[in-house]
Amino acid sequence: MNYLAGLNEPQQAAVQHITGPLMIIAGAGSGKTRVLTYRTAYLLDKGVDPFQILLLTFTNKAAGEMRARVEKAVGNDAKNIWMGTFHSVFAKILRFEGKHLGYTPDFSIYDTDDSKSLLKSIIKERGLDDKVYKPNLVFNRISGAKNRLIGPDEYLNNPIIQADDAAAKLPEIGRLYKLYTLRCFQANAMDFDDLLFNTNVLFRDHPVVLDKYQRKFQYIMVDEFQDTNVSQYLIIKKLAAMHNNLAVVGDDAQSIYAFRGANIDNILNLEKDYPNLVTIKLEQNYRSTNSIVQAANSVIAKNKNQLKKNIFTENEEGSLIELIKAASDNEEGRLIATNIFEAKMALGLRNTDFAILYRTNAQSRAFEEALRRLNIKYRIVGGLSFYQRREIKDLLSYLRFVINQKDIEAFKRIINLPKRGIGDTTIARIEITAAEQEKSVWEIVSNIRQYQAGRFAETIEGFADLIKSFILMTQVPNKDAYEIASHVAKASGLLKELHEDKTVEGLSRYENVQELLNSIKQFVDNPDTEDHSLASFLQTVSLLTTADEDDPDGDNDRVTMMTIHGAKGLEFNHVYVAGMEEDLFPSQMMLQSRADLEEERRLFYVAITRAEKKLVMSYAESRYQYGRLKPCEPSRFLDEIDPKYLQFARNIRRAVEETQRIPQGFVRRTDSQSGVVSNSLPINNKTGISTTTSNLIQKKPVVNSAPATYVPSPDFAPSDTKNLQEGDRVEHLKFGYGKVKKMDVNGNDRKATIEFEGGVGEKTLLLSFAKLRIL
Ligand code: ATP
Ligand code: MG
Repeated sequence: MNYLAGLNEPQQAAVQHITGPLMIIAGAGSGKTRVLTYRTAYLLDKGVDPFQILLLTFTNKAAGEMRARVEKAVGNDAKNIWMGTFHSVFAKILRFEGKHLGYTPDFSIYDTDDSKSLLKSIIKERGLDDKVYKPNLVFNRISGAKNRLIGPDEYLNNPIIQADDAAAKLPEIGRLYKLYTLRCFQANAMDFDDLLFNTNVLFRDHPVVLDKYQRKFQYIMVDEFQDTNVSQYLIIKKLAAMHNNLAVVGDDAQSIYAFRGANIDNILNLEKDYPNLVTIKLEQNYRSTNSIVQAANSVIAKNKNQLKKNIFTENEEGSLIELIKAASDNEEGRLIATNIFEAKMALGLRNTDFAILYRTNAQSRAFEEALRRLNIKYRIVGGLSFYQRREIKDLLSYLRFVINQKDIEAFKRIINLPKRGIGDTTIARIEITAAEQEKSVWEIVSNIRQYQAGRFAETIEGFADLIKSFILMTQVPNKDAYEIASHVAKASGLLKELHEDKTVEGLSRYENVQELLNSIKQFVDNPDTEDHSLASFLQTVSLLTTADEDDPDGDNDRVTMMTIHGAKGLEFNHVYVAGMEEDLFPSQMMLQSRADLEEERRLFYVAITRAEKKLVMSYAESRYQYGRLKPCEPSRFLDEIDPKYLQFARNIRRAVEETQRIPQGFVRRTDSQSGVVSNSLPINNKTGISTTTSNLIQKKPVVNSAPATYVPSPDFAPSDTKNLQEGDRVEHLKFGYGKVKKMDVNGNDRKATIEFEGGVGEKTLLLSFAKLRIL
């Protein structure tokens, strides 16, 4: 196969440059990821052994997609390429090599919740106030230090850091860091940052190990290079040192993780570190229409700190970027949902063609409600992950403990689950005994009779026997993860407890656990899974990012909702960027300097450049925040888009009416529940969009057809009419749509004569009372 067809000239050059360091610095949608995929296939075609290739991506899903594409081109060989996120690739290396650092291959990976829970107990133990030493804050400080490769001793010995912490009135952080590290180590556990930190330590202190992996990985590639942090950069620099075949692709204009320690200087430093670096620029965008590309260019041009690029496209001009103004966040949800519905109908698009992007996860609620009402399926990427749900973590904690009996966070979670009457005092007593005896908690628990007698000892012995029986099961050859997990779910009593809870939440928790078991079955049955063991499953699951999760019912045709951060590298036919308001985007919380504003602007640039054909932005004039309705102003970023490419959205309400005309192949259904929403109903509970619309999507047969009733939006305010003029189109709460024929102003007493549609006729209204809005 000719891997060069389908690539432009600079892309071809990048694919063919396989020896020596290479940096592809290029705009959004210019084919960076595509080049890496083709380059991998090209390498294999040139006879490079797949075991010699390492490809680092932003999500595991992205790695999976790239692997599938390479596989299509070159066949099964692609399976053996090491591909994945930094975290998953280096966790795998640490499984093999962690012994050099004192970890066993079965080490646990603590997620953020585990880390914070551990910190909380340490803060308490040291008698500190957790309102001052907030676990979240302490966690972030520790994480920041690890990402800059500052270990606890270095932290404590660094006068600048110490002075900083003292000034922040948090002088104990260093000691908390030290204790936290020790506890993780004792638990044979690493947190996410440790996966990188420890890899660095491993390569620094064990040259033989480094040498092994340097020999192995002769070709290293990194996607989204602009968002690597110092710790990640040092790892790849070390790995590439022997062969120097490092190819990185990135876009400085899309660097959006500075707050997590990503360092745009990595791009600038690369030339210093690799004097013979070859740099290739890609400037042609293949993703988006010209309007979108130009709008994105006009925005990013406002940033001072950037490498010069001239992004252009030969794609069609495309339609202008639309701007939707909504009265409230709820209305924003409805208008966007309607817009999606309308576009689906008009253009024959699928749900997967749409994405709604926002600055913060909390914004998803209004869209969820509105989409649900229109029966449009959606998925939220990056909300509360399936694997973070209580019942899921409960079962996973059992499984973690069965694999790693030092995992103290898992132990604390399951020791009294289902309830055995073991309280915090008993747990504390066990911990103290363990410390006194210099033994692990499990060593105490599994021999409890030696240390305690009485009722508690009996209960604990029962628990220990249960765990021992599970451990035995993992030692039986060929017992796969599914067999063990389903046994543990039953024998532990977890499933029974959930089954007996007949509340709606209980039922859904029970279903979630079943779902987890299904996913373990899928893992075991998947021909790509090499190792079917429970330990192997746990490792995979602990490294999933929310972007990697599949949809629960297997129906993947869904509108995607996610934060802009999560959307990096992705593309969608239609993109909605919601919440374009000051303080929300740019985020007030992130703005302390010009550099922060530039980072927010890069985030905006990322959002715009996700769209292929159509980009719609929206803002609300008021929004509930922290329980209060707050007036909002449109974002300054809207002013930064070249106005040539921007227009207000056409009348969406009209569009709703249009969609209510029944397209071919559909019939309208009306019944007492869902057919007609009458004007007299309390409108706040209503969607503003007749449920007849959703009937169209359901393709359900009709009974008893009734007229599609006009349903007004709840967001009417007399204040909206200040600027009313003759000729304006308006919407009235009760009378529906109309056109202003005459204005009559007499002091404060303003009247409008309006010709309403739909047989309502002409009305004269007093504007200070009229429930009217201008369209
Ligand atoms: P981002 O900066 O958002 O990560 P990117 O630079 O990685 O973008 P890709 O995702 O690789 O860009 O490519 C964007 C789109 O353009 C993809 O749909 C890709 O298949 C297409 N594309 C890239 N190069 C070409 C080409 N030479 N001919 C046709 N289509 C191309
Ligand atoms: Mg990309």
